[in-house]
Amino acid sequence: MITINEHYLKLQASYLFSDIAKRVAAFQKNNPDKDIIKLGIGDVTRGLPAAAIKAFHNAVDEMANDATFKGYGPEQGYDFLRQAIAINDFQSRGADIAADEIFVSDGAKCDTGNIQELFSQDIKIAIPDPVYPVYLDTNVMAGRTGTFTDGRYQGLVYLDSTRANNFVPALPAEDVDLIYLCFPNNPTGSTISKAELKTWVDYAREHKALILFDAAYEAFIRDESLPKSIYEIEGAKEVAIEFRSFSKSAGFTGTRCAYTVVPKQCAAYDSSGNRHFLHSLWNRRHCTKFNGVSYPVQRAAEAVYSEEGKAQAKALIDYYMENSMAVCNTMDTLGYDYVGGKNSPYIWIDGRMDSWQFFDMLLNKAGVVCTPGAGFGKCGNGYIRISAFNSHEKVQEAMQRLTKVLSA
Ligand code: PLP
Repeated sequence: MITINEHYLKLQASYLFSDIAKRVAAFQKNNPDKDIIKLGIGDVTRGLPAAAIKAFHNAVDEMANDATFKGYGPEQGYDFLRQAIAINDFQSRGADIAADEIFVSDGAKCDTGNIQELFSQDIKIAIPDPVYPVYLDTNVMAGRTGTFTDGRYQGLVYLDSTRANNFVPALPAEDVDLIYLCFPNNPTGSTISKAELKTWVDYAREHKALILFDAAYEAFIRDESLPKSIYEIEGAKEVAIEFRSFSKSAGFTGTRCAYTVVPKQCAAYDSSGNRHFLHSLWNRRHCTKFNGVSYPVQRAAEAVYSEEGKAQAKALIDYYMENSMAVCNTMDTLGYDYVGGKNSPYIWIDGRMDSWQFFDMLLNKAGVVCTPGAGFGKCGNGYIRISAFNSHEKVQEAMQRLTKVLSA
């Protein structure tokens, strides 16, 4: 008899986006003339940088010709892209990361989800609340948690991100082995300073723990004093793996390209306490289970680092950041407390009521769709997330509607 992995039965059905869709559909049915503005999703809305498109086209043409055709590529990514990443994203900021420490992939979602395979079943895991759900669910699937009781999985250490700690969680009171951190954060948009991040690196070094640092939104950082990479912190290479993506930095959500950095010194231990380097374990996993990103996509990603590509990608980010600023300015005027928006495409707003109540009010009175914070964890209740991924016109219109409703 074929039996299932029963850990899957512990997973909480993710009602968040389907609940939102249902409520939006009901509103649309009852108000067919009302135009709805969606500021709920984390997907980008603008076209790829022209330099990336040009390189993409050229690479597709290469595939048509026997002389330049490419078959299976290196699973870790082509050297041209790994070099461009190492130089531009790390070495230029003083982080000593080499090309062969970079593993190109088709998504930070897959990588942040798959990485837990390298670790044993009985590790103690610290996960932020609110959280990007992939970190949580992949550990539930792997059987590293107990059941879901009173809004939380048993056996995990939750790192509360609240107004009291400015949405940067405190170090755990108990010993943990694996720590998930994400800055700029999804969903809160909060950022971490170098000094704060150093306390996590020091903790990991002291406890022989590992940090999984998700920097998918680093391109939105404006404040030059903030770290874009955990490797800007001394000692991090031994205790941290970093995830990056072209999804939000260059509009690749539908094109698919990301990467994970596993420094050569980064280690974990076997049950006898012997040290093992994670670079070789991840390399083994990547080569066994992943075929590499397609050649044209890697050429398109490489072009993001050309002079025109950099300027065009920056213009994309600047466009969304204007929206972020418009949302922040509206909240300042209305006197609503929020975090994020200044170095992030997300604005996390204290709605002063239940998340879903606030969501319904914005939908029904303003025709604006946001994301209820409660969908990201217990600490998200009372908050909503507004995303900057839309056109200037739509965001301006949404802010005018919100101003009318919230100042009434
Ligand atoms: N990490 C975070 C925090 C995200 O919010 C997202 C996407 O929304 C991802 C990773 C996934 O990125 P990718 O498109 O590369 O899979």
